[in-house]
Amino acid sequence: MPGTLYVVSAPSGAGKTSLVNALVEQDPAVSLSVSHTTRAPRPGEQDGVNYHFVEKAQFQGQVAQGDFLEHAEVFGNYYGTSRSAVQALLDQGQDVILEIDWQGARQVRALMPGCVSVFILPPSREELRRRLTQRGQDDEAVIDGRMAEAVSEMSHYDEYDYLLVNDDFDRTLADLQAIFTAQRFRLARQQPLLQGTLDNLLS
Ligand code: GDP
Ligand code: ADP
Ligand code: 5GP
Repeated sequence: MPGTLYVVSAPSGAGKTSLVNALVEQDPAVSLSVSHTTRAPRPGEQDGVNYHFVEKAQFQGQVAQGDFLEHAEVFGNYYGTSRSAVQALLDQGQDVILEIDWQGARQVRALMPGCVSVFILPPSREELRRRLTQRGQDDEAVIDGRMAEAVSEMSHYDEYDYLLVNDDFDRTLADLQAIFTAQRFRLARQQPLLQGTLDNLLS
């Protein structure tokens, strides 16, 4: 039984990476897709762990070869999701999370209609700026740019299946887990697992 593909989007600083990392740590059946990007690594970011950091020419070559399930330009950098890596994980039965922007989410929905998408909002604009500043990884100009982009990213919230506000972190993490749990009890997923029980009950 192949895994389920999840798409998680949020404006930069809303807390999607922290939430998704916490979820993946607690649940061995869920994997996070590592994107390719032309952005420079932040302090502490590791190649192959947070992102595959690549030069623009290499990225464009991979686009031309059809290596990406989706790709988009965000904040002047290119980001893309490896088609083969995601498919290999799904084929192993892993649930896979893509942490991608709304443009990528649209492309994935068109290609993989069975995917489940979640949008995460910050509690307020003030709190979003506070989190971007407190994260301490981007300079003032980059933070201003991300704040300006936040409204346009958030305006796409109604294209998603689920909507969360990341106010209290632990509460939001529990809500995100609930979405994953509910998905596993859907008929299409349960039926093959319960075939023996169903045969017994219905014979
Ligand atoms: P952060 O969201 O503040 O941690 O910033 P990042 O630099 O990690 O991500 C920047 C933007 O790129 C976010 O909107 C992500 O959702 C988006 N992004 C990251 N990886 C991908 C990808 O593989 N494809 C697409 N389409 N967008 C991505
Ligand atoms: P994103 O991946 O959406 O850009 P991050 O996960 O990097 O966001 O979170 C941005 C900052 O906000 C980080 O410093 C993180 O520790 C903090 N943060 C995340 N969620 C919360 C929350 N619910 N309350 C307070 N701070 C949070
Ligand atoms: P950051 O540079 O702060 O890590 O990410 C900035 C934005 O890029 C975030 O909104 C993130 O969701 C988006 N992003 C990261 N990886 C991908 C990707 O593979 N595809 C797309 N479309 N967006 C991505």
